[in-house]
Amino acid sequence: MTQQNNPILIVAEHNGQSIHPITYELMGKAKELAKQQNLPLAVLALVSPTVDLQELRFRGANSIFYIRHDCFASPDESLYAQNMSNVIRDLEPEVILIGATPFGRSLAPRLAAILETGLTADCTDLKMEEGHLVQIRPAFSENILAHIQTETKPQMATVRYKEFAEAERNEKEPSEMIELQTLETVGHQAIKTERISDFIVDITEAPVVVSGGRGLKKAEDFKLLQALADALGGMLGGSRAVVEEGFISKDHQVGYSGHRVKPVLYVACGISGAPQHLAGMKEAEMIIAINSDPSAPIFQIADYGIVGDLYEVIPKLISEISR
Ligand SMILES: Cc1cc2nc3c(=O)[nH]c(=O)nc-3n(C[C@H](O)[C@H](O)[C@H](O)COP(=O)(O)OP(=O)(O)OC[C@H]3O[C@@H](n4cnc5c(N)ncnc54)[C@H](O)[C@@H]3O)c2cc1C
Repeated sequence: MTQQNNPILIVAEHNGQSIHPITYELMGKAKELAKQQNLPLAVLALVSPTVDLQELRFRGANSIFYIRHDCFASPDESLYAQNMSNVIRDLEPEVILIGATPFGRSLAPRLAAILETGLTADCTDLKMEEGHLVQIRPAFSENILAHIQTETKPQMATVRYKEFAEAERNEKEPSEMIELQTLETVGHQAIKTERISDFIVDITEAPVVVSGGRGLKKAEDFKLLQALADALGGMLGGSRAVVEEGFISKDHQVGYSGHRVKPVLYVACGISGAPQHLAGMKEAEMIIAINSDPSAPIFQIADYGIVGDLYEVIPKLISEISR
């Protein structure tokens, strides 16, 4: 299976039916890097039988290596990492790119540990210099952009969602599809031990995010925000303050050390608007802020601001929306 030129390898992500769009974004950037360095572009897709791989074929990869197996219906990162490592050792890629989604962030360190290589998380840009991948990511509360290179191979990075344009579609030149049959689905039962839940919350795709901050007095008060999110067809987010308080799980954290979201509508309830929070939501198409302090920095980037107590404002909003 080893190719003459070792490829840039994209790890495809799926939701049980279709390929996650971050895969196409990674392919878009990787095509540019592969062309510069004269390297092939390959994709590795471990999928359940229900996943449609057609679209993946039209995005310009040279080869798509795939395995279809029922065990990949559950997002068990350890299982994925074990199985991927077998293929990767054979392919010997120069570079491996994985989406910095909840799943990718959990998979990548496991894979890097098995492959005994380095990993840079949450990159916002990538370039190649003299055959080395330069992994660019914000550091020190987004005040500087660190340029990181790893000595070990493969050079691995996770890349934030919605940083790059998707690879263009071209139906005239579909990728070569290579089904891998021989792989052992390593100890599916044996290593499926640590997960508390098979369900990973992914707020990065939600069209509407209703987020709560320290303006909430207790965890149960998120029910009020959930009612607003339900009325708007959205999902719940939170500031780091409430995640640290244990009001809501880390899957929901928006910001520099949480998720970057770009919904049509972001509603910030009782959130002051610290730079680290803004880093995760300032690209939203419309921002509505509810805060009792008229001088809260969140109002500087909000399209609409409501100065008031969220416990009074939100029920009124819900009743208006439901009329
Ligand atoms: C390296 C680093 C990474 C970080 N990463 C993140 C991150 O990913 N995400 C993140 O969010 N933060 C992050 N932070 C923390 C960040 O700096 C802030 O501390 C945090 O965002 C504050 O959360 P908050 O707005 O909920 O709380 P606060 O700043 O305490 O704001 C609470 C707001 O609620 C308002 N309020 C109070 N009561 C009511 C009421 N009844 N009705 C309406 N409004 C009310 C107040 O006026 C206030 O503005 C990070 C910090 C560091 C140093």
